[in-house]
Amino acid sequence: MVQAIGSNTPRRAARRPGVRVGAFVLLFALFPIGFAAWTGTTSARDLRRTQSQTARIAPAVREYVALNALRSALTDEKYFVGAAAAITDLGIDPSAVQQIVGIDILDELAQARAAVDAHLAELTNSDISTRVAAARADSASALASVNGFDEAGAAVGVLAQERFDVLRREVGTLEDGNRLTTSLQVLEATTVARQTISQQTNDYLDIRFSGRADVDEGVRRLIEQRAQYKTAVADVTRLSVDDAAVARALATTVQSVDSERFVEAIEQLIVASIAGNDRKETAMAVLVANYADVAGAYRASAVMAESHLELVEIAGASVSTGIDELNDAQADRANHTILVITLVAVGSIVFAAAMAIIFGRPLRRLADQAAALSEGESVATIRPTGPAEVRRAAEALNAATEHLRLVESQALALARGDLDNRVLNQPAPGRIGASLQEAVHTLASSMTEREEFQRRLTHEATHDGLTHLANRKASLAQLQRSLARTSRTSATVALLFIDLDGFKDVNDSYGHQAGDLVLRTIAQRLVTRVREGDHVGRLGGDEFVVIAEPVDGLDEAVALAARLLDAITAPIALEHVELRVGASIGISLAAAGDRGTGADELLRDADLAVYQAKAHGRGRIEVCTDELRAVLAAQADLDLAIRNGLATDEFVMHYQPIITTETGGVHSFEALVRWDRPELGMCWPEAFIPFAERTGLILELDRWVIRHVAQQMAAWAEVPDLAAASVAVNVSGRSLSSDSFVDDVLLPLAEHGVSPHRLVIEVTESALLEDLDLAAEKLERLRSVGIRTAIDDFGTGYTSLAHLKNLPIDILKIDRSFTNDPNAESLVKLIIDTGHLLGATIVAEGVENDDQATHLRRLGSDELQGYLFGRPCAAADLETQQAKQTPQTTRPAS
Ligand code: C2E
Ligand code: CA
Ligand code: CA
Repeated sequence: MVQAIGSNTPRRAARRPGVRVGAFVLLFALFPIGFAAWTGTTSARDLRRTQSQTARIAPAVREYVALNALRSALTDEKYFVGAAAAITDLGIDPSAVQQIVGIDILDELAQARAAVDAHLAELTNSDISTRVAAARADSASALASVNGFDEAGAAVGVLAQERFDVLRREVGTLEDGNRLTTSLQVLEATTVARQTISQQTNDYLDIRFSGRADVDEGVRRLIEQRAQYKTAVADVTRLSVDDAAVARALATTVQSVDSERFVEAIEQLIVASIAGNDRKETAMAVLVANYADVAGAYRASAVMAESHLELVEIAGASVSTGIDELNDAQADRANHTILVITLVAVGSIVFAAAMAIIFGRPLRRLADQAAALSEGESVATIRPTGPAEVRRAAEALNAATEHLRLVESQALALARGDLDNRVLNQPAPGRIGASLQEAVHTLASSMTEREEFQRRLTHEATHDGLTHLANRKASLAQLQRSLARTSRTSATVALLFIDLDGFKDVNDSYGHQAGDLVLRTIAQRLVTRVREGDHVGRLGGDEFVVIAEPVDGLDEAVALAARLLDAITAPIALEHVELRVGASIGISLAAAGDRGTGADELLRDADLAVYQAKAHGRGRIEVCTDELRAVLAAQADLDLAIRNGLATDEFVMHYQPIITTETGGVHSFEALVRWDRPELGMCWPEAFIPFAERTGLILELDRWVIRHVAQQMAAWAEVPDLAAASVAVNVSGRSLSSDSFVDDVLLPLAEHGVSPHRLVIEVTESALLEDLDLAAEKLERLRSVGIRTAIDDFGTGYTSLAHLKNLPIDILKIDRSFTNDPNAESLVKLIIDTGHLLGATIVAEGVENDDQATHLRRLGSDELQGYLFGRPCAAADLETQQAKQTPQTTRPAS
């Protein structure tokens, strides 16, 4: 069973909202971006921390340098404060000292103080300032003052140390702070070196000026300071290998003339002081006594201190540079990180976008295609792009699309009924394809079958099943087309109406199969004998038509008809016998001028012609002419007139007496019909009976006659001579064979109360012979109630006398032609004797003279009828005639 497609459409899976490929890829891209962001944040935080640290380190370095400078300056000031006080205590004029030693103490003091003030101003440390101020205020007491400076110096030292500790700590926590730590160590070492110079200068001058023996303490300090200096210089040398500026400055500082001179002075002093105790006094005395070089040493120390201070500053600057470099490096790193982050982010996004394009686009196209397919839309194939798997899916989908397209075009071809379409032979792949192909073939073949069936139905509707010729309807349609064509081309169409003669006999004698064979054979002959393009059709029964188009004229049509007639009448071989069938052909022509001639009219004309042909005898060709049409028109008028006459009782009955040969008495009459036509007068049977026979109106007429006669006989019940008379009524063969015949006879008799014994039915030989058994059966039924039967015009129909014994015959009426023929005597005698043998009464008709009457009486005719005894006359006349006993019949001699 085929299910309705609509009711069984697979339900499309509800589309679940899912994450797109692009979103997935983006999600994955977010990981590196997130990582980069995290790195960036960390790096930025490091940078900020480093920057805040270095921001703290730089001023601390400056402060440390300044504090050391201050401390050295304080040492210098302290010394000159002490020296000035000592000179003052000794009561020596400082200018004398200058002269002797070469050093302007006060000037040096002033310079030292200025230096201290400058450093204080730079530092702005109130505590130190206060201490320094306090130390200076104690200038009254040199010792107190020196102590004050020492304390201030110590405080500055502590402060410097604090600062340095902080610095070291800060730098220690710095990432990549190694170089900075080194710079810091260099800085520390340079400050130590600088500090030892002030200290050594201090002690050197002390020792040289005091000249005391107790210089050991001072010398010990000198040795210590000198060792410290050397260590510091060695430290700086070692640590500043990578620091060109410092290394260079150190070299120039250490190797300068002044430095070397002061170092040498110190060493001389140390050497002198560590000389043996016995020589020490002397050595020292020598030194003390010799002031000359003190000033030189002092100045060398001042230059040396100065240059070492510069070294400190250079070291400090190196630290600052280190900090800057660190900052820069950090910033570079941060920038680098940011660059990397940016690259990673951009890269990730580009990657994500690329992935989205590479995967997403083909996947989306796939998804769209699949969705469109699932919705049954016709879709275009997609270009297989993207990764291998996607490409494979696209190719598969394309293939599926192609298959569906094939299916679609197959379905369309089927829907159009285009079964020859080559697409139907293209196999769709797979199992579905196979079943589809099968369905297509089933459908296709069923459609072919249906078409074939349709074609057969149409053929059957337009063709005759037996002969396969076009049937009546199709032939009429063909005729219409031919007429339409010829009306345009001024050609002539001929229609041949062929009616077989005696075909009924073939059926009756040889059976229907033989009849069918005859019809098929004749159809075949017609088809082969007509001209190319002529139409042959079967109207039904034994009637055929040929439409010949065009024909030159009547002659050609007649020639064709003759040819066909020859063909038809040629012998036809049946199984055991060979027979010939004749035909009558009626021809009608539609010439170009005959506008408005329809197919029906043309067929009717041909029918009229064939009717005429039959009327004129068998095997004839008749053409429908204007005269024929006129005759037929007149017949049509006559037909109508008869009908009207019957309806309005224009017909009258005349009665002719029949006498008994023996007595000459009249006991019966023959009823003969007349038609009293308005304006035309009395018409005799020959003017309308044959016509009524042909048209079938005779049935009506015979019925009318029987009714009328029955009525008349009833009326005669009052007339003494006619009350018992019997009346013979003529009945046509067609009436006899009609189903209602018996009733048509009996009912009027019953209605009028007329005895059936008074009625005789006259039937001609030929009428009887049409269907002998049926006629016999009907007449037998009538006879059973007393109605007698007469065979009229006996002897003309070549009735075999043998037939008579099978018929319920009461009366034989010898035809007038025998009555009047002297040569027919023996035949008449034979009829009379045979009739008598069968128990029939013999009536001789047409007896006009006494000779005939005498002759027939001698031959044994029981009754006589003819003008001699009375012409047919009206009932009223008959009544008066009977009364007067004089015949006054009506018919004029013709
Ligand atoms: P039918 O039956 O042979 O009728 C006899 C015909 O012979 C009548 O002609 C009658 O007038 C005529 N006739 C009688 N005696 C003589 C005679 O001595 N000499 C000559 N020459 N003729 C004589 P009618 O009346 O003209 O009838 C002609 C035919 O018409 C009848 O021939 C009958 O076949 C038919 N016919 C007449 N009336 C009827 C009728 O009511 N019904 C039917 N079905 N046929 C009728
Ligand atoms: Ca008659
Ligand atoms: Ca007769």
